[in-house]
Amino acid sequence: MADRQASSDESPARQSASASHHVDSRDVQAHASLPHPAPGGSVATATRRAASADRGTHATTNGAARSETRRSLAEVITEQERIFIDRQPGSARLAAEAREALAGGVTSNWQISRPQPVWLSHGSGSKIYDVDGNEYVDLHGGYGAALAGHAHPAIVAAVQEQVTKGTHFAQPTGNALDVARELSRRFGLPQWRFANSGTESTMDAVHLMRAVTGRDLIIKVEGCYHGHHDSVQVSVYPDANEMGPEDRPASVPATAGIPKALTDLTIIVGFNDLSAVDRVLGEHPGEVAGMILEPIMMNAGVILPEPGYLAGLRELLHAHGALLTFDEVKTGLTAGPSGAIGVSGVTPDLICLAKSIGGGVSVAAIGGTHEVMRHIADGHYDQVGTFNGNPLAMAATRAMLYEVATPEAYGRLDALRNQAVAGASEALNRNEIAAHVVAVGAKGCIVFSPEPVRDFRAFLAINDDYSHAHWLFQHNGGVFLPPWGKSEQWLISVQHDESDITRFNRNVAHFAACIGSA
Ligand code: PLP
Repeated sequence: MADRQASSDESPARQSASASHHVDSRDVQAHASLPHPAPGGSVATATRRAASADRGTHATTNGAARSETRRSLAEVITEQERIFIDRQPGSARLAAEAREALAGGVTSNWQISRPQPVWLSHGSGSKIYDVDGNEYVDLHGGYGAALAGHAHPAIVAAVQEQVTKGTHFAQPTGNALDVARELSRRFGLPQWRFANSGTESTMDAVHLMRAVTGRDLIIKVEGCYHGHHDSVQVSVYPDANEMGPEDRPASVPATAGIPKALTDLTIIVGFNDLSAVDRVLGEHPGEVAGMILEPIMMNAGVILPEPGYLAGLRELLHAHGALLTFDEVKTGLTAGPSGAIGVSGVTPDLICLAKSIGGGVSVAAIGGTHEVMRHIADGHYDQVGTFNGNPLAMAATRAMLYEVATPEAYGRLDALRNQAVAGASEALNRNEIAAHVVAVGAKGCIVFSPEPVRDFRAFLAINDDYSHAHWLFQHNGGVFLPPWGKSEQWLISVQHDESDITRFNRNVAHFAACIGSA
């Protein structure tokens, strides 16, 4: 989406600092790095530095102001973008050539990243390689789909075996049953269907909520992304001047091509705002089919649900005869073995899974209660698709669930996450950068705000230039994070090891030292 493009004109990080962000949920880590000033320094000093890096004077760690000639953040970014481009002549050539045959020169708008798209040649284990031969520790994970890493032996074996037996029948195979049973065990929802992308799974979930209740309205959270179908392409990344008042957010189409008649059926609320949901349900009695949200917001960095929020939503919605859908396309197997359901202890009526569950093969799943899924079983709602339950996808997903995303793998992921969080927090603290690290399971990010971020509006206020600069330092230092600055997070795969995270932390330290003195 073009509006996800890293921009340099957003307002600076907010100026005040607060205490550390404590979240009680299991397996969730939120580390505030800034509220611990360096000896003799202050939180305000650190905050001021990140918010106005291009001034000619700044406070030193002992609090004394000094003047010096130094580069602005914009100059640092320009230099890093030049290094980036110099390292990738092959990508530049292909990007130019591709514009003739591929719209925009890429295969999805999200691949149009600044300063230029990176063309890859292959991946292996925890690494990916660009067409210029540069190696990267892959923390991009194909936008969160590569929890298995690349060419994982179990996935390769499963796919190779299935390829020799046929890749498509449009009839069920035994692996589909194994996959459904294991998903039921992990996520506590008894019945499943399959699809091919996250978009399809959330589309089915929205249709199901409407089919079950016979109502048309849905509630969606401002800033959550649920794929590119009409009902959810609303207020995904609205501009500040379009998004309306905080207590009554507008329903803003996310792109051209979304009919207003459909946008009007999607009512927007803020994340972590139970009272807004209460209000909407009260204002539309008997009209709301349900609510869809990312239970841990992951298209706005990482924003954690406050204690009681998810359970409160379920209670409120059920009290009004409406349903709750968790979009766990991103969090699925990555927030933990049972996703955000496992982390929060809250089970919704419907869950959407995709990305990492297929071990790198395109697949999605929709799980639901008997009450909901009987509307599929009895034909009231037609959940269909030529490639649903595709044998190749089912073979890869079965291997992912039974052989890759194992308890031992999650133990290793926890250790690597702790290493990343500790190393990054230490470097940010040492350099008095107004930022903190938020991580859950295999996912995490640096949030360039001294305060915890609890919703999209606070996220929008963060200056994206810091995220973009960090992304460039990581890239030029051999670590591929997802582009799109502050929106995205890292994904550690089961094939990463300590040396990969050491490289990531070394890059954070290099970035923080440059930005801290910028
Ligand atoms: N839901 C969430 C939370 C996502 O992050 C995404 C994609 O980024 C989707 C749904 C859509 O998934 P897909 O791109 O596979 O259609």
